[in-house]
Amino acid sequence: SSLNQMLDLKGNIRVFCRVRPFLPNERNARPGPVTAPDVDWVKVPSARKEFEFDKVFQPNSVQDDVFAEVEPIIRSALDGHNVCIFAYGQTGSGKTFTMEGSKDEPGVVPRSLQRLFEEASYDTNVNYSYSLSMLEVYKGSLQDLLIARSTRNSDHVTKGLSIQMASKGYIEVENLTEVPIADAKEASRLYLKGSRRRSTAWTHANDASSRSHCLLRINIVSTSAHDNKKRVSKLWLIDLGGSERLLKTNAQGLTMEEGRAINVSLSALGDVISALQRRRPHVPYRNSKLTQILRDCLGEDSKTLMLVHVSPNENDLGETICSLSFATRVR
Ligand code: ADP
Ligand code: MG
Repeated sequence: SSLNQMLDLKGNIRVFCRVRPFLPNERNARPGPVTAPDVDWVKVPSARKEFEFDKVFQPNSVQDDVFAEVEPIIRSALDGHNVCIFAYGQTGSGKTFTMEGSKDEPGVVPRSLQRLFEEASYDTNVNYSYSLSMLEVYKGSLQDLLIARSTRNSDHVTKGLSIQMASKGYIEVENLTEVPIADAKEASRLYLKGSRRRSTAWTHANDASSRSHCLLRINIVSTSAHDNKKRVSKLWLIDLGGSERLLKTNAQGLTMEEGRAINVSLSALGDVISALQRRRPHVPYRNSKLTQILRDCLGEDSKTLMLVHVSPNENDLGETICSLSFATRVR
């Protein structure tokens, strides 16, 4: 496929941008960033800036368009590569729409799950089995999203999750629930349930903004029919916390603390990807829980897709420029 060819030629990290359409409550809003059909840049004329991407999805693009470009990297996970797909952007820019979508317009997560099980049914030379885990990184601590909140808050569970490095750099989140999954529908339902358990708090940017990172992990075990050889890979599908800066959201107290934690981990993620892209000898994985967890899935032999989301609204241009600049730093 063309994406995989690009990945082989140009390294393992791709950066796409999706500009969401105007929402019904933005009827009188003026446009901020500028895109055009069939080109992969986003322009901000008022700031005289232009940002290039591996792919740009215009506001009128649909979930099918996005998944068509994501699908090859799912294939890579089946082929034994560790894969991370991130949704980045300010609250309200469309991260959850892209990843989860709606019942009528399912996003990357349900489509990826469906793709995995399709493969399992077609490929007779390889036997695939999958298991699903889901966790939240919230203010630097880890929460198991497959365990009900009431149970999760009790001490023995909250303290339970820890990041361990096993042999050959393999990272394991100790005590994380891992559910074997037998079909895509069941797996999608599990994801929705976990996603509803995410911590949310009120900010001025959005009345239920996601102030945490939501990480879905699919462990893939493939066994070759030829030689019985087993291969294990991980597919991470990650809905990151809102990237908005603190001042604009008028954050105070708890919200401020949450915002700071998210900003720290997002810049840590940016630092890691940027170091990998520039082939720096030191990659600063240790600066956040997020990058510690993903350590064995960011880097050599792994593939990363960063989906940067921006608002079309002129009012959001400040945050839009920040998100586009983040994208430039990791590309
Ligand atoms: P985030 O997760 O980044 O906070 P959401 O995904 O919740 O943002 O999107 C905010 C709102 O915009 C939601 O009502 C969502 O349905 C809508 N939306 C986002 N992206 C799109 C899109 N590409 N097409 C249609 N509606 C969208
Ligand atoms: Mg969201």
